[in-house]
Amino acid sequence: MIRITDILDKIIEYNPEADLDIIDRAYIYSARAHEGQVRLSGEPYLSHPLEVADILADMRLDVESIAAALLHDVIEDTSTTKEDIDYIFGPGVAHIVSGVTKLSKLTFSDQAAHQAESLRKMILAMADDIRVVLIKLADRLHNMRTLKFHKKKEKQVTIAQETLDIYAPIAARLGIFWIKQELEEIAFYYTNREEYEHIDTLVNKEKEEKETYIETVRSKLTTKMEENDLTGDIKGRFKQHYSIYQKMLSQNLPFDEVYDIVAFRIILDTIPQCYAAMGIIHSMWKPIYNKIKDYVGNPKPNMYQSIHTTVIGPFGERVEIQIRTKEMDRIAESGIAAHWSYKEGTKIDENTGEIFAWIRNLVENQESLKDPDEFLENVRIDLYPDEIYIFTPLGEIKTLPKDATPVDFAYLIHTEVGQECTGAKVNKKLVPLAHPLQTGDTVEILTTKGHEPSSDWLNFVKTVKARTKIRQWINAKERERSHSLGKEMCEKLFRKKNQNFNALVKSGEIMKVAETYGFKSVDDLIAQVGFGKITPLQILNRAIPDLDKVEEKEEGLLKKIIKGKQRPKESTGVVVKGLNDILVKFSKCCRPLPGDPIIGFITQGQGVTIHRKGCLNVMKMSLERQIDVEWSRDYSESYPASIRVKTTDRYGLLADIATAISKHKCNILNARTDTSDSGIGSFYFTMMVESTDQLRTIMADIKKVKKVTDVKRIVRND
Ligand code: MN
Repeated sequence: MIRITDILDKIIEYNPEADLDIIDRAYIYSARAHEGQVRLSGEPYLSHPLEVADILADMRLDVESIAAALLHDVIEDTSTTKEDIDYIFGPGVAHIVSGVTKLSKLTFSDQAAHQAESLRKMILAMADDIRVVLIKLADRLHNMRTLKFHKKKEKQVTIAQETLDIYAPIAARLGIFWIKQELEEIAFYYTNREEYEHIDTLVNKEKEEKETYIETVRSKLTTKMEENDLTGDIKGRFKQHYSIYQKMLSQNLPFDEVYDIVAFRIILDTIPQCYAAMGIIHSMWKPIYNKIKDYVGNPKPNMYQSIHTTVIGPFGERVEIQIRTKEMDRIAESGIAAHWSYKEGTKIDENTGEIFAWIRNLVENQESLKDPDEFLENVRIDLYPDEIYIFTPLGEIKTLPKDATPVDFAYLIHTEVGQECTGAKVNKKLVPLAHPLQTGDTVEILTTKGHEPSSDWLNFVKTVKARTKIRQWINAKERERSHSLGKEMCEKLFRKKNQNFNALVKSGEIMKVAETYGFKSVDDLIAQVGFGKITPLQILNRAIPDLDKVEEKEEGLLKKIIKGKQRPKESTGVVVKGLNDILVKFSKCCRPLPGDPIIGFITQGQGVTIHRKGCLNVMKMSLERQIDVEWSRDYSESYPASIRVKTTDRYGLLADIATAISKHKCNILNARTDTSDSGIGSFYFTMMVESTDQLRTIMADIKKVKKVTDVKRIVRND
């Protein structure tokens, strides 16, 4: 078990003026608090916070972080409270410890929701104090190192999978490469033991031969470098199992064909030496053209810097070589922690600032993404390190995720450029907006003033920013549309019920309704009508509850008097002169009834259509196709007829009119009411009648109903 003195020695080495007292006290406090508790390994619990503190000391963190690491489990696992820690160790330590505790408290049954929530919390914690997440990473690292003590196999797999999904990508994004690698390697073993062991066997096969090979390449490189007065450290190493496995997967290769299971690294003092070394290597072994990557000139967003090149080595094999300075090597290993000074008050440099900008950006976006799946999808996009580097026409370099499109690029430049983007030129050639960009492309965006984003873009954009902005824009547009539609619907219904919607808005009545639904404004309520979530009638009922009763009764009555949905029968009751068995249809425009003077019209392939004489449509038709027809004498069919009934007061009249109609044993097909602004009521009925005579009698009966001022046959009613 590691001892506290080892940790203190480490701290003194990188921070001679460190206040070790707070660490001593944290150690003693943690030992007491965890007294009697044991880890699954059988060791005293204290070994865990000590190991975590040791990892943080390796990352050269400040004393507050290390004290917090020693105390990181006391709130969760013992009776200690945040206030206790605040009182004894100060608000800084208390803040970090309680941050770590909050991250631990996650219980979700659903795997995806759990993952989304963990990521969300990690990101919020990072934005609050990055040290919380550094402790969490160290905590997870030690837990992974001791995962073998877990009794339950499934639990091991779950923890390992979560490590691959969340912790390793976050370590990668923060540039802490050694933690990322170790986490992945252990997690690989637990999530896919078969593959792990398979690769392990292959890597270890002929290991001596491979080690001899490494030595050969190394000495050739050393000789050549010395000839050119370059002294540096040259290392050859086996790649980790997980990255070999990833390569096999992504390139669909068997193990034998994964050439770079060995990689070389040259560490020098200065940047010019790095470029000189690359030149020397390229002069001895032929470089593979598209495998040269200059992350020295163009650092990765997680601050990683290095030159990568792959050459055809001494035996005709591919050799991958990384060249960088000592400082770059340190950052490549410890990432953000390398920039996190143990001295207080040191300014955050530009690169670190960029990482913080990334975190802030995620936090801003996560607030607008309520759906955990959507959030997860977006964070995944940003978290996975497949990045491409794109040039602006002015030569400025921009980083985008793999397969990003000109639209992503446009939004990256500026939201407005994104919104108004109508086309793009890649390397001076016009491309579609969905065109996947590639590293090295120079992209020029064409915009048109007033152009609007399309929801189709959501199908291909890859960045959180573009996705969020497009969605926001669409939502705003939709809301606008829903609002004007909702307003129109409300005005129409209220007018129909003799009410003035806008006056009720002004008088505050509608605001009261909005409040009963829990909306903050009338506009929100109206938008909901447009979305179809609330009906105008519901609003009316709440605004004027009394009106409701009369209406409801009448609506029920309307439904009752419409009996079934009889379709009028066609093709009987009419004789076409000189022709038998011809298909006869009744026109829908004028609805002739037996007794009406009629005329036939020959329709190509559809027989004869019957119109009333004098129907406007017939007058427009060519005379040649008109044909004389007459009603046959023995008709017994019903035909639809429509009438309009005007009244001075509409309430209560419907029942009387319906009675007048049904007295004649004819069915009502359709009935509706309408009220004009002046208060005159109109009723429209469509019913099945046998003849114009019958219709005339019915109309006469309706006229006798009190308050009915006018009854008229109309062409149609729908
Ligand atoms: Mn812990």
